[in-house]
Amino acid sequence: MAARGSRRSRAGRADVGETEAGTEVVGPEPDQISEYDLRPDMAAENAPPSPPKQWLRLRDSTLETRDVTTFRFDPPAVGFQWRAGQNLVMTVPGLEDPRGPTRPFTISSSPTEGGVVAVSTLIRDSPFKRHLTKMTRGDTVDYEALEGEFVLEPGRPALMLAGGIGITPFRSMLKFAVDTRLEKPLVLIYSSKTPEDIVFRKELEEFAERNHAIRVMHTITRPEQAKEPWTGRTGRVDADLLREGFRGVRHPLTYLAGPPGFVQETRRLLAEEFHTSPEDIRTDEFDGY
Ligand SMILES: Cc1cc2nc3c(=O)[nH]c(=O)nc-3n(C[C@H](O)[C@H](O)[C@H](O)COP(=O)(O)OP(=O)(O)OC[C@H]3O[C@@H](n4cnc5c(N)ncnc54)[C@H](O)[C@@H]3O)c2cc1C
Repeated sequence: MAARGSRRSRAGRADVGETEAGTEVVGPEPDQISEYDLRPDMAAENAPPSPPKQWLRLRDSTLETRDVTTFRFDPPAVGFQWRAGQNLVMTVPGLEDPRGPTRPFTISSSPTEGGVVAVSTLIRDSPFKRHLTKMTRGDTVDYEALEGEFVLEPGRPALMLAGGIGITPFRSMLKFAVDTRLEKPLVLIYSSKTPEDIVFRKELEEFAERNHAIRVMHTITRPEQAKEPWTGRTGRVDADLLREGFRGVRHPLTYLAGPPGFVQETRRLLAEEFHTSPEDIRTDEFDGY
């Protein structure tokens, strides 16, 4: 889990400070806090936050597939920046959940999308996810932005391997590549259970149409459960599929994202079949799946 181990907090970049105890205090300087930056309940009480936390205000949500929803948030302060592929840690203050009130998520939107911070998540029956689905426009969650190595390096070709919900960082990276007209080859190999489980399916097609440096390859692991006819590839990511992905791409950076089993298996394949150097592999293991 190279990327997770090395990630560091960078919420708001210039907005990160240190307490004497070394704990990070996240947020703008107190004299820069506008009423908009205060939680609505704080603004009502006119109580100055001490210290203020970063928070996101829900704008809207969209059902992507039968069990994946994208939540789009407005960040609190102008100038919040992130890099395509970056994670954040979201907290629902006071939430009672046996697994705690905090989850890491990748930001699935691109920095080129007008500042909207999106997370796309598999909805399951945890108190955290139940809370997310009950939120309405204007509700807030706390967050801390994190950056590791799992970010797009615009100067290098990339092979991106996504398992299931592990597509989220690649949606951000590919949208960024389209909007900034990146010309380095970017190949996505995306493994989903059924065609109906392909998240961002239409958008991914559009990305490849709009930027010819982008190639998208799908594989379906449970075709027998598909509701629609599927004539494309089936089966897990294997050496043949990787070989096809590597075709025409010289010395790519290889990104692996998804459930730990997917990441470990594809990393093993890369090492054993292609002798890919660990320095050319970046991983984001989505624990909890
Ligand atoms: C770097 C990173 C990026 C991520 N990005 C995303 C993303 O973009 N989208 C996304 O959906 N997820 C992402 N995740 C995963 C996310 O953080 C959550 O772990 C995941 O969504 C599961 O949360 P949950 O509330 O559904 O399940 P949880 O309640 O956290 O449960 C997780 C697992 O533990 C089991 N479990 C629950 N309670 C117990 C218990 N008491 N004892 C034993 N086992 C239990 C559950 O059955 C389940 O298998 C990311 C994770 C990481 C580390």
